[in-house]
Amino acid sequence: MKKDFDILLVEDSRTQALQFQLTLEKHGYHVMMAQNGLEAMNMLLTGRASVVITDWIMPEMDGSELCRAIRKHDFGNYVYIILLTAKDSKNDIIEGLEAGADDYLIKPPDEAELIARLMTAERIIRLESSLKQRNREIALLSITDPLTKIFNRGYLNDNLPKAVKYALRYKKSLSVILCDLDHFKKINDRYGHQMGDRVLKTLVETLGRSLRKDIDWIARYGGEEFIIVLPETDLHGATIAAERFRLLVSDMAIESEQKNKIQITASFGIAALSPETENPAIRADDMIQAADRCLYRAKEGGRNRTMGIAL
Ligand code: GH3
Ligand code: MG
Ligand code: MG
Ligand code: MG
Repeated sequence: MKKDFDILLVEDSRTQALQFQLTLEKHGYHVMMAQNGLEAMNMLLTGRASVVITDWIMPEMDGSELCRAIRKHDFGNYVYIILLTAKDSKNDIIEGLEAGADDYLIKPPDEAELIARLMTAERIIRLESSLKQRNREIALLSITDPLTKIFNRGYLNDNLPKAVKYALRYKKSLSVILCDLDHFKKINDRYGHQMGDRVLKTLVETLGRSLRKDIDWIARYGGEEFIIVLPETDLHGATIAAERFRLLVSDMAIESEQKNKIQITASFGIAALSPETENPAIRADDMIQAADRCLYRAKEGGRNRTMGIAL
């Protein structure tokens, strides 16, 4: 059976290494070989071995030095280390474990014991990798809006200030567009909250398709309010973008359960920085407030329109 990790065997005695390799390969392990710690480190840096079985006494870099070097380095995944040592070497074992080894085997190891120890290694490696995966998922969840799957307000609060600082420091343009659906309450009242949710999801998909990939980003600011951040974009460019969004929203084809076409529009408020922006003290909150004032004017002016201001 093919194993899902490789073993790096570090042993300066050729005959012992070969014997070891045969045993491990018989049990389905893919084995890489190094003759000392230095060689092993190089192979770990380029390869993908998750288990290191290492001799204790070797030239160049010995077992304990190798353990320390491995623990100092971040390989992106856990490296499980089994130390090979001679009989009656309690001190070596203690030193090895202190240096970062996970386990040890007395040479020459019994085959059944070796395989059993490797099963422990496999368990630890699996555990570590599922924990990492779970952490990645949690990190993603913590910045994602559950309904629309775009960034949430937390992400916005962390990242808009960075974008504003960057734009001001390097005299770049930056636009923030606030988008608010018009009379959205009526959609909920008429078609139900679930249909309202569907409208929000469709809106986000529609806007998302129209953003510059890996440059612009969108976050859910509140219930039916979204913020679109356009780096390197001044008021002129952002107005063109917002008008494009506005037309896309009014063209959205959403059918109600009764097969009526649900018609919806949105209003947009823009605040923009440009290389001509004089005030270096502008903060993300100031931009959002300015965009919100423009949005208010767009609503006052009859909705389904775009208003903007250059700061
Ligand atoms: P206006 O044109 O002035 O913006 O009118 P509006 O009805 O859109 O404005 P208002 O802000 O008063 O109401 C927003 C509504 O959005 C109220 C709330 O029920 C609805 N809403 C907020 N979040 C959600 C959501 O997650 N799902 C659904 N279905 N509705 C939401
Ligand atoms: Mg040796
Ligand atoms: Mg609103
Ligand atoms: Mg609204």
